[in-house]
Amino acid sequence: MKIIIATLFPEMCEAVLGESIVGRARKAGKIDVSCRQIREYTQDKHRRVDDTPYGGGMGMVMQCEPIYNCYKAVCQELGCRPHTIYMSPKGKVLTQQRAAELSKTDNILIVCGHYEGVDQRVLDKIVDEEISVGDYVLTGGELPALVLTDAVARLCPGVLSEDVCFEEESIYSGLLEYPHYTRPEVWEGEAVPPVLLSGHHKNIEAWRHEQSLELTKNRRPEMYGEYMALHPPVEKKKRR
Ligand code: SAM
Repeated sequence: MKIIIATLFPEMCEAVLGESIVGRARKAGKIDVSCRQIREYTQDKHRRVDDTPYGGGMGMVMQCEPIYNCYKAVCQELGCRPHTIYMSPKGKVLTQQRAAELSKTDNILIVCGHYEGVDQRVLDKIVDEEISVGDYVLTGGELPALVLTDAVARLCPGVLSEDVCFEEESIYSGLLEYPHYTRPEVWEGEAVPPVLLSGHHKNIEAWRHEQSLELTKNRRPEMYGEYMALHPPVEKKKRR
C-alpha cells in the first residue's frame, strides 16, 4: 500500500516515519509512505501558499492552487486518483474499524491543513473523506496524519512481526486488552498474578478474557454493552 502525505512540514513527518516499526517496515518495503511539500507546487514567486480569508477574520487560509497541483502530480505519478483524505477536526473521528478498512486501500493521499484551514473549493474538488483524530483542535494536520498513517500501517501485512498481534489488542477485539506483566516476578513487593506463571494456557486465556471484560465494563461501558450484545453469555445447562 502507498500513503502519500501532502504537507507544509515534511521534515516533521519524516522524523516520525523514519523511526520504530513504521520506519523498519518502510525500509523493508512492506509499506510505501512518503511526503510531498505543498510549497513546491505553488506558482507564486515568493512561494506563498496562503492568504487572508475573504469576509475577514483571524489567521490565514491555505490556497487552492498549490494543493490542487500537488494532487494532480500525485495522480499522474500513480496513474490513478488516490483515495484522498483531509485531516480535519470537522471530519469523522478515526476508529479502529476505519483504520482497518483503509489498510486495504491501495493508494491514499492525506492532505494536512495548517493555519485557519484550507480553501473549501479545493477540498470539495479532491477530498473523499475528512477524518478527525478527536474533538480538539491542533495547530496542523501533520500529527493527525501521522496518527492515521500509524494506525493504518500497522494493520498492513508484514508490518508487525506477527500479523495476529493486533487481533487481541484493545478495540480491535471489541474489548480493551488485559494487563501485561514481565520480569521481575516481584517488583516493589507486587507479585505477578500467579496464573500467568502456571504454564496452564487455558487458565491464562480465561483469566485474560475475564480481565478484558472487567476493564471494559468499568472504563468503556458502551463498548462492553456492544460486546455483550454480540457475545451473550452461554447459559449453563440445569441439572435434572
Ligand atoms: N479553523 C479550523 C476549524 O475550526 O475547524 C481549524 C484549523 S486547525 C488550527 C489547522 C489544521 O489542523 C486543520 O486544517 C486540520 O488539517 C488540522 N487539525 C486540527 N485539529 C485536528 C483534528 N482534531 N483532527 C484532524 N486534523 C486536525
